[in-house]
Amino acid sequence: MSWENNVRKVVPYTPGEQPKTDNIIKLNTNECPYPPAPEVEKLLGSMKYEDFRLYPDPGASKLIDALSDYYKVPSDQIFVGVGSDDVLSMAFLTFFNSNKPILFPDITYSFYDVWADLYHIPYERCPLDENFRIVKEDYFKDNGGVIFPNPNAPTGVLEDVNMIEEIIAHNKDVVVIIDEAYIDFGGKSVLPLIDKYDNLLVVQTFSKSRAMAGMRIGFAFGSKKLIKYLNDAKFSFNSYTMNRPSLELGAASVRDDEYFKKTCHMIMETRRRVKCELKSLGFSFPDSQANFIFAKHENVSGQSLFCALKAAGIYVRHWNAPRIEDYLRISIGTDEQMDKLIAFLKDYLK
Ligand SMILES: *Cc1c(COP(=O)(O)O)cnc(C)c1O
Repeated sequence: MSWENNVRKVVPYTPGEQPKTDNIIKLNTNECPYPPAPEVEKLLGSMKYEDFRLYPDPGASKLIDALSDYYKVPSDQIFVGVGSDDVLSMAFLTFFNSNKPILFPDITYSFYDVWADLYHIPYERCPLDENFRIVKEDYFKDNGGVIFPNPNAPTGVLEDVNMIEEIIAHNKDVVVIIDEAYIDFGGKSVLPLIDKYDNLLVVQTFSKSRAMAGMRIGFAFGSKKLIKYLNDAKFSFNSYTMNRPSLELGAASVRDDEYFKKTCHMIMETRRRVKCELKSLGFSFPDSQANFIFAKHENVSGQSLFCALKAAGIYVRHWNAPRIEDYLRISIGTDEQMDKLIAFLKDYLK
């Protein structure tokens, strides 16, 4: 008998590498290649450091009000957290509390099974079809909750709102979470459905489309009831999850809509171009609606490409996992970065 028998043991999530050197092309964690909105920089310069001695607003009202104005959702239907990872983990803890398994795709965000294990939530993976599409009927059976990203990660595949609504309509007795981390790159959000389904939680983040991964800001929309339950769990855990700069600078980012739309558009334009280039080099991929492309080459393995790219200072993401070992997930960087990637691949594959 040892104290170690009573330790809560988990296999942790492995995030993409954050290299310590600057001279690499970093296309491995889906960060935005452009800086945050100019409004953020302006406000940062005028923030008073002596205020840091004070606790932040536990209700995060500045940020929540900015989101409320922008998305036209009442503030008591918005929850914020330290990145959407914090929001999602709190949602797992709060809403997935059944003996029945929660359902999510076999190929998806690899944090879901980690949280399920951490909180002892049973789960079942529903295989995507051969085109990496969600098979909606898999989610019509009895379960303890449903979660998937839309667009899905790491595939980039977007499902349409009607199909997702069918899944929600079949699951009114559990909470359905749609993780919209990548929705701003051309997808249509299921946000309007929160008025129709009080069991729907829609989660988004500032980390990708708003270029603020380093500030750690995530948010969720849902019925008043869902948000109340989330807040009860949060205030039983840590009242001050969001720090002062995140609350202020997050609100500033939301106010700068012009910049937000411009940078999302630039990324989509670069994505369109890179899809053509990759295709002509012998890559195939599902049609991504996210800020990355999940691609495999017709005759070079994922592992070889990953290593060759890394040796050349170009970081992408690769998983040694069933069904996807030949794929690379390549984040969309600036045009200049993508040109270097394409130039390297042209030479390497010659
Ligand atoms: C990046 C990502 C998140 C979490 O991002 P945060 O930085 O914690 O907001 C959540 N879900 C998916 C699918 C992601 O790719």
